[in-house]
This record gives sequence, structure tokens and C-alpha cells, in this order.
Amino acid sequence: MRETFNFSAGPATLPEAVLQQAAAEMLDWHGCGHSVMEMSHRGKQYISIHEQAEADLRELMSIPENYKVLFLQGGATLQFSALAMNLMRENRQADYIHTGQWCKKAIAAAKQFGTVNIAASSEEDGYNHVPAPETWLLQKDASYVHICLDETIGGVEYFFTPHTGDVPLVSDISSTFLSRPIDVSQYGMLYGGAQKNIGPAGLTIVIVRDDLLGHALPGTPQPLDYKANADADSMLNTPPTFAVYVAGLVFQWLKQQGGLSGIEKLNQEKAALLYSAIDESSFYSNPVAVQNRSRMNVPFTLADAALDAEFLKGAEAQRLIQLKGHRSVGGMRASIYNAMPVQGVQRLVEYMQAFEKSHG
Ligand code: PMP
Repeated sequence: MRETFNFSAGPATLPEAVLQQAAAEMLDWHGCGHSVMEMSHRGKQYISIHEQAEADLRELMSIPENYKVLFLQGGATLQFSALAMNLMRENRQADYIHTGQWCKKAIAAAKQFGTVNIAASSEEDGYNHVPAPETWLLQKDASYVHICLDETIGGVEYFFTPHTGDVPLVSDISSTFLSRPIDVSQYGMLYGGAQKNIGPAGLTIVIVRDDLLGHALPGTPQPLDYKANADADSMLNTPPTFAVYVAGLVFQWLKQQGGLSGIEKLNQEKAALLYSAIDESSFYSNPVAVQNRSRMNVPFTLADAALDAEFLKGAEAQRLIQLKGHRSVGGMRASIYNAMPVQGVQRLVEYMQAFEKSHG
């Protein structure tokens, strides 16, 4: 096992077995004499990689047949605009539940294309919870309702599926992608960047119900039109081939971990270890409502912020890296995605306890 544990929120740590396989196949993929990076995306070798990756993702998430899986580029950020361009209908109204910095960006992007109704918000409370669904002021004729299942910066996660009736529910799942089972059939669309739980940066995955396709706003550029991408099997132009390949290896690795329910158990164990360590101490704290604490991103602060730099320096000396909190909130953040071994979280907890003893 690698000696360094990387708590970056993304691009994030990948399973060691996947990196080893990618390294072993780097110069010569399956005897073809060249690397995946050097393959034509129209050739049968790459197409087999692409199709297998999609089939494995469909199996892992039990994606129903009436949903398209698109392998795109541009990050979740581009989808903030693309989803509005594809899903806004005649009245161009959309409901957004505002739970953090990524929602804020999604809202700003959607406003370029129509009217955004903030149906509920936790902004005034510092984004420390998901507003109770009974309080959401949803519009009957909205084109869609947008949520972010896991706000990476605030560490706020939904553990329920909102009911929005006939209005399609859309979620940014960048941070919680493949960390636990999700009932895809409850959503009109799910999307996220790969660079947290899935693979290298550069791949963005969109899962969209097929009846929502084909109504993009006039002027939508073709590479942003979901129907055009679906019709071309995500090969409208050159896809991020190497990122799709590594994502495919991650999907196979996940199947070996017992699929999403298998990995969910490990994720629960890791999150419980870290949150208990925080809750049992009077030196560390996490501001998020207990029922919304993200299993993937754990922000925490020290009792004295003047000790932050020393905490980070000591952590690095122990090879516990990238623990600095997001620049907008400060403090620390430990992202503990699927590929973070339990041992990494144990090492972090030991370090935190030792630091508290000497500085608390
Ligand atoms: N949504 C969430 C929840 C994120 O965490 C991020 C990136 N950290 C984004 C959107 C933006 O993703 P990208 O950088 O892939 O555009």
C-alpha cells in the first residue's frame, strides 16, 4: 500500500490497483502495441473500452434502459449551463434548492437562460444543512428542480430523495457519484465530473432520461446538446479517451468491492471513524447538521485557527496530504472518497488525536 494518503477534494486519490493496471498497460494495451492514449476513438479497440465502461456503469448504478449515459467534457461547471439549455421549457422557469457554493454557481449559470426560483436555501445559516423538504416552495410548472446531492465545500449531503412529482429532479452528484446506491429512476438527470470518485479530470458524466432529450433551447451549440451527444453515442467529437479508460478500470474495481452497497459500507465506516473523532474532542468541530454530514467530504476546524499551518505541516510530515480547507471557508477538509483506504482515515484520526494532546 502507498505510504501517502491524499485527502484532496479532487482531482482525488484513485485506487492503487487501478493505477497499477493503467501503468502496466501504459505502453501496450492488451498486446495492440500502443497506449490507449494513442488509439483512434473510432477504432474497435477504443470503442470496446468505451462500451464496456458504459455497460459497467449501468450495471453498478442499475441505470434503467430509458436513460442515456453521456461521456462528455467541460466538467460539472459546463453542465450548469448545458442542463439549463437542454431542460428549460417554454416558460423557462426552474427551481433550485440552494445548499452551498456549487449550487450558487449552478444558479448563476442557469440565470443566463431563464428565471431561477430559489425554492429553499441554507445560505443564511452558512450552508450547514439541507432545508427540510416540507419547506421547499416548488412551482408546479417549473421545467426542473435542481439539487446538489453533496456539496463538496460545505460537506453537506442529502440522504433522502426529494419528491418533485412530474417535475424532473436534477442533481449534481460530482462528490457522491458511486459512493452509495442511488435510485436513478427518481431523477430526470444526474451529472458530475469524474475527478473525485471515478477517474482523472476531463471526463464528465451525464445520465439523463430519454424523454427529456430533443428540446434544447434554440442556439444551443451541438456539443452541449444532449440529444446530439446521445445520438452519436458520446462520439460527436473526440471523447476524453484516456479518462474514460481509467474510469472503466475504476468501475471494474468497484465491482470487485461488492458494487455500490459494498463500497457504501466502507464509506460509512470511514465517515463514522472521522466524525466520532471530531465529536469526541473539544478541539475539533464540524458545523454540519448531523443528518446531512457528507460521507465524502469532512470539513473541520481547530479550536484555534492560529494552529492551522502547524497542523497542516505536521500532517504532511506524516504523509497525510491536501487537508487544507477550501479557500472560501478555511480550516481543514478531509475528502474520503471510495479510493481512500480505511487505514488512511485511521492514520488521520491518530494524527489528530496526537496533535490535540500536544496543542489542545
Ligand atoms: N459540483 C460540485 C459538487 C463540485 O464539487 C465541483 C468541483 N469541485 C463542481 C461542481 C465543478 O466541477 P468541475 O471542476 O468538474 O467543473
